[in-house]
Amino acid sequence: MSTLRFQALKETLNRKPLKITEPARRSEIFSSNVFNETVMRQFLTKEAFENVTEAMRTGKKIDRNVADHISTGMKEWAISKGVTHYTHWFQPLTGTTAEKHDSFFEPLSEGLAIEKFGGSQLVQQEPDASSFPSGGIRNTFEARGYTAWDPTSPAFIWGTTLCIPTIFVSYTGEALDNKTPLLRALQAVDNAATNVAKYFDKNVKKVNATLGWEQEYFLIDSALVASRPDITLTGRTLLGHSPAKGQQLDDHYFGSIPSRAISFMMDLEIECMKLGIPVKTRHNEVAPNQFELAPIFEEANLAVDHNSLIMDVMKKVGERHNLAVLMHEKPFAGINGSGKHNNWSLATDTGTNLLSPGSTPMKNLQFLTFFINTIKAVYDNEELLRACIASASNDHRLGANEAPPAIISVFIGSQLTKVLDELEKVTDGKLSPQEKTDLKLNVVGKIPEILRDNTDRNRTSSFAFTGNKFEFRAVGSLANCANAMTVLNSIVAKQLKDFKVEVDKLIKDKKMKKDDAIFNVLREYIKKSKKIRFEGDGYGEAWEKEAKKRGLSNNRTTPQALKAQVSKKTISLYKELEVMNKTEVEARHEIELEEYAMRIQIEGRILGDIARNHVIPTAIRYQNILIKNVTGLKAIYGEEYTRHAKEQLEIIESISAHIASINSNVNAMIEARKIANKIEDVEKKAFAYCDDIKPYFEEIRYHCDKLELLVDDELWPLTKYREMLFTK
Ligand code: ADP
Ligand code: MG
Repeated sequence: MSTLRFQALKETLNRKPLKITEPARRSEIFSSNVFNETVMRQFLTKEAFENVTEAMRTGKKIDRNVADHISTGMKEWAISKGVTHYTHWFQPLTGTTAEKHDSFFEPLSEGLAIEKFGGSQLVQQEPDASSFPSGGIRNTFEARGYTAWDPTSPAFIWGTTLCIPTIFVSYTGEALDNKTPLLRALQAVDNAATNVAKYFDKNVKKVNATLGWEQEYFLIDSALVASRPDITLTGRTLLGHSPAKGQQLDDHYFGSIPSRAISFMMDLEIECMKLGIPVKTRHNEVAPNQFELAPIFEEANLAVDHNSLIMDVMKKVGERHNLAVLMHEKPFAGINGSGKHNNWSLATDTGTNLLSPGSTPMKNLQFLTFFINTIKAVYDNEELLRACIASASNDHRLGANEAPPAIISVFIGSQLTKVLDELEKVTDGKLSPQEKTDLKLNVVGKIPEILRDNTDRNRTSSFAFTGNKFEFRAVGSLANCANAMTVLNSIVAKQLKDFKVEVDKLIKDKKMKKDDAIFNVLREYIKKSKKIRFEGDGYGEAWEKEAKKRGLSNNRTTPQALKAQVSKKTISLYKELEVMNKTEVEARHEIELEEYAMRIQIEGRILGDIARNHVIPTAIRYQNILIKNVTGLKAIYGEEYTRHAKEQLEIIESISAHIASINSNVNAMIEARKIANKIEDVEKKAFAYCDDIKPYFEEIRYHCDKLELLVDDELWPLTKYREMLFTK
């Protein structure tokens, strides 16, 4: 009997939900482990406080002297909460978070000691950067890397450690992390959007990108996961036959949350509250044991940090509940995968959501300006947008049998489609007073203030307008949102910059009124970007054909999709906006290709091992049982035995055939890997893994899954889909 599987099942069936008690009202504990404004007022001198808040608002550098005051205040606050260590918390290009803890403790002479945390330790540190990916940046520049405090994201306490959000850059200034380009992109969109917003309101001084992510995940008992080497090592099942019952009945979605899951969620939410992460929504997702969590949106930089942090916290809280949190985009074949919708908008410092239709025609013109510019930005950069969400794991959603597809399209709903159709007819040149009044009254003025509930629901589009924000739905559940946010904010920044130039030119050269100029430019944008808009079912063959006709890209695999990352257009876009230089762009491309090849390589190895060491031996064992049975029947019935052993004989043959296929495919895959591993060029290597190795996975899996159906359940060593998905 396969002991690990049955032991794991037994353990799982005996689990009881942990009892979670709320420590206090949530509003009371909210942000209690964050070095926020209230705490700063308490622990900082007035000067230090003003310096930090200004740095948070404007990005102004903090004086070294002042840094000493701040670090002392931070340390006192942290120690008062039982903290012993501090760390610079950063997001290297591995996509996760990194930390190295140092103690406040410092020995003095004669057995005395103090707690110390100086300004220089707050502001800058040098983690050993050599073990983080740099895509050749360090080789080229022989530079060490350092982390630098990012005061726009507040320090927080996790456990007994004070965590200081930082960026990670090389000594020559190249970004080695996900945060640095993001901060630069946010600066770029702030500049560009502020200039455009001033057409409508002179008082706007700053525009923030906002982000509200929705994190999907699976919760599977940790013992069951431990019994599956594929999940343990790759985050997903590499084989396993789909259960007789899957998600067909839709009985999990929005259903009542299982009790162990709800106690995990409560525990997690309490931790989030303390960390100042404003989680708000929790519910079951489409697949069994799949769930979703969403906070209230925040300024994008903070939201990105909070998502990175929560992914870490979820794992740790999961451990307390003996639950493994699977963040992979496709842990189970044939069952809904997980995404991370990125809800995005732009908000002014005067409190206006620029993607929210307003109560007056003027406010609606402002809305339309940002709305249409975003659509145009997506159209012009659809390939780059596809590239920023590409990963080995997300390939199982995009371009595979799941919505959203690998094609980027924008869904805006029928009401706004009508509005854009009307605007397309606006006169070329100056508008007559009659036309303007008519536009304001009947088109621009007719956009309902609350579109939210009127926006058609479309679940298959990769980029949808949902009333007062765009929802970028193709982002992977495992991804760091920084990548998607860097690209989206950069392309919109570039677009708004160009828009401003065009409008100003019409005002200056053609002596047009501001509104006329805006209408004229928007009209052209609507025409030019029409091909990206799609209101139908953005999924399936019909749409693929249509998209091809429209000239939209359909890059189904990561190596293919990543090409757009290093195109001339991308490099010049980033250069113009000062988001990344060519070295940084190319380094990232190299890192992502390398990571892709590595992930497929690891999966290939593990699949080969499981097929050989688990599946084949089990199949042989079962085959032997059948052979013994047949031999026995022959002893009893003589030549007549085939009448009684027909089924057994068929299975014996079937097993042999599957074993032979597994063997030959595993051998062929190993040979293909050997060839791929000799390739020096990273891109070619990634393509080899994608085109020459990955296809074997399906083949091998197919035969393993067939064996799973044939072999005696008692003997099967790998925990089955139905057990992982339906044991709660
Ligand atoms: P749903 O899309 O499921 O109907 P909501 O519209 O309430 O749900 O919002 C989904 C997500 O969008 C939430 O995480 C929310 O914080 C976020 N969101 C709402 N408004 C904005 C905004 N202006 N900018 C960014 N995110 C937003
Ligand atoms: Mg959503």
